[in-house]
Amino acid sequence: MSSIIKTINPYNGEEIKEYKQFSKSKIETCLALSEKTFETWKHVEISDRTKLLKKLSKNLIKNKQVYSELMTEEMGKPISQSNTEIEKCVFLADFYAKNSDQFLADDLIKTDAKESFISYDPLGCILGVMPWNYPFWQVLRFAIPTITAGNTVLLKHASNVTGCALAIQDLFDASGFPKGCFQTLIADHDQIDALIADQRIKAISLTGSEKAGRHMAEIAGKNLKKAVLELGGNNACIVLADADLDKHIETMVAARMQNTGQSCIAAKRFIVVEAIYEEFLEKFTKKVNDLKIGDPKEPETRISVLARVDLADTLKKQVDSSIKKGAKVVIGNRKDQAYFEPTIIIDVKPGMSVFDDETFGPVAAIIKVKDNDEAYQMASNSKFGLGTMVFTENFLEARKQISQISDGAFFINELVKSDPRLPFGGTKASGYGRELSKEGIQEFVNKKTVYIN
Ligand code: NDP
Repeated sequence: MSSIIKTINPYNGEEIKEYKQFSKSKIETCLALSEKTFETWKHVEISDRTKLLKKLSKNLIKNKQVYSELMTEEMGKPISQSNTEIEKCVFLADFYAKNSDQFLADDLIKTDAKESFISYDPLGCILGVMPWNYPFWQVLRFAIPTITAGNTVLLKHASNVTGCALAIQDLFDASGFPKGCFQTLIADHDQIDALIADQRIKAISLTGSEKAGRHMAEIAGKNLKKAVLELGGNNACIVLADADLDKHIETMVAARMQNTGQSCIAAKRFIVVEAIYEEFLEKFTKKVNDLKIGDPKEPETRISVLARVDLADTLKKQVDSSIKKGAKVVIGNRKDQAYFEPTIIIDVKPGMSVFDDETFGPVAAIIKVKDNDEAYQMASNSKFGLGTMVFTENFLEARKQISQISDGAFFINELVKSDPRLPFGGTKASGYGRELSKEGIQEFVNKKTVYIN
């Protein structure tokens, strides 16, 4: 029996819409169509595939307002940030429209053969399981390169953004992609487990929690199936004694507070050398206090509600349990339904939840250290490995750390961010595989060795 999924506006708690979960037979129909479409789509010239991407980019621009409002309504993202998200999706589509033929061209390699090369062939139907925090960006950054490489895609989006999931399907359809290239499924976890195990699904891509990652990787592994996992993060933002605070303090605040703190690559632990600690805390607190809090539909709002009440509940528990272990609140730590006040918490140490776990909301954990060595050691003291950022005027010294950082990214004097031109992904409990750039489009392909003598 199919059940009903309700989407709720987290700002006012009102129900937005009800959706019927797909039946087993409807999912089977989608999977069969995906497989059938793959048989023709894989033969379409890349130049024709990228023509459709250009249309998709134009449709994103045309519908920017509608899509932005939908995201804001379903998960509470401040509207200006919803607009930015759609603009970034346009950049992504344009990037792959321009570069995919080169990324997927045969790679000639000189050997003893008359001719030898790598050919990049699509795999088939790929399942994407995506989260609610960037409802358009997360889906498109997976689906655009994957489909352009000649695969077809089935999407299971987070249930609280089902409206966005269906809008993205309409976007692909309206841009002229053959029916079955991209399909949204409204499915529960058991149906997804069954799909991962189905031999017609060739690979999976998940962006989400570590828990979901471990669960899906296990099923994929049992079925010898490739997975790309983009899981949580607990990025350190290292502030060294010579950091230019006046220049970078806003970037540091944005690193934590953008998307109301609900970002895997956000700076979650600020590791500050004692010589600059007081100055940092004063400037950082002032900037956080200046953030305009309010209705996500208002253009000036920088911080609004979290996407769901249970996410705010979890955050409250993380902060309160850290306080019990000796951490102190400078500002914030007030919760009301899905709202969680921007919070700065000091005297944070390993062993406290705000140090050890991912905090998915506007909570900045501040850790004081004596010197640079301790700062880098503290930064790498995490089970996660998405990214590290450092603020310093001594670039040469900072560069020496590149080989020491085991994360998927190291940013100097900038917040860790994704860019279609650069690979994106993590190590350790942050998952494996890469999205974006040439690396991303080559994840779901058969890198076939061809040898002609
Ligand atoms: P989840 O990992 O539970 O959800 C992400 C996606 O995975 C959703 O589409 C969800 O579907 C789906 N999913 C989860 N478990 C399963 C399963 N067993 N089988 C099939 N699909 C599954 O994240 P939450 O929304 O619960 O957020 C919890 C925490 O996860 C956050 O606080 C944050 O720490 C982390 N997170 C990290 C993200 C990132 O960008 N790396 C993004 C989102 C969350 P459904 O909505 O139906 O449950």
